[in-house]
Amino acid sequence: MAKSVLAILQTAIALSIEVATALLIFPVKSANPETIHEDRIVLLEYGSSRFPESSMIRNGSNRMLEFSWYFYLIQKNGKNYLIDTGACDASKIKAFGIQNYVHPVELLRRAGVSPESIDGIFLTHNHFDHSGCLSQYPGARVYRSSGDTPPDWVTIRAANGHAKMSNIIVVSFGGQSALFTSDECYFREHCLAEKELAEVSLYNRTNNRQALRYIRQAHGNGAQFFTFHDPSQKKDAVYLVEGIYLILKGP
Ligand SMILES: [Zn+2]
Repeated sequence: MAKSVLAILQTAIALSIEVATALLIFPVKSANPETIHEDRIVLLEYGSSRFPESSMIRNGSNRMLEFSWYFYLIQKNGKNYLIDTGACDASKIKAFGIQNYVHPVELLRRAGVSPESIDGIFLTHNHFDHSGCLSQYPGARVYRSSGDTPPDWVTIRAANGHAKMSNIIVVSFGGQSALFTSDECYFREHCLAEKELAEVSLYNRTNNRQALRYIRQAHGNGAQFFTFHDPSQKKDAVYLVEGIYLILKGP
């Protein structure tokens, strides 16, 4: 009896060591491979910071607000696309105080996607946190404007308020319209209240105003919209694995 109890204990200890080892090697598990090719759009969060509201909107307060850092993965018809790439430049990541940084390629691995399997990248603009990891995806076709003829389910709409070539990306997905705001507004409440960007975040105020009006009206007409820095964006999404959230599912 005592011997068999000992044997069970030894097996249990051996198993828990195996599990612990597996957790050490793979601290965050990847998504179930069987779900990789179903149509979906996921949000990938590669870090967080805090900035005063006054750096985000015109006449904002000095209140410090949590600020997230996102990019998006679209899986459609068996292909993988990104909307922006996240940040890869260590000096910029430090300068902008990005905490809990996870390399975007590692985030994609958690979502079950290798950098080689990215077919296309739709870019909102040319800032370090949006296009800074382009070199990680040498095989991907890059779409910077409507002139790059994106697939017929994607519209690249010039906004040019936040940056010289800032685009709002509109995606038809599963019968829905999903709009990605670029940084024409950082937080959803700012988009809907048409709060213009702070001077420090602005390229052209007239264009920014027009972009905000377009986003609000599109939302009024039923489009969902997604920003690249709003921490509350995650609350309406479905948590999948650490840093990965499902925002839309195909039909
Ligand atoms: Zn940004």
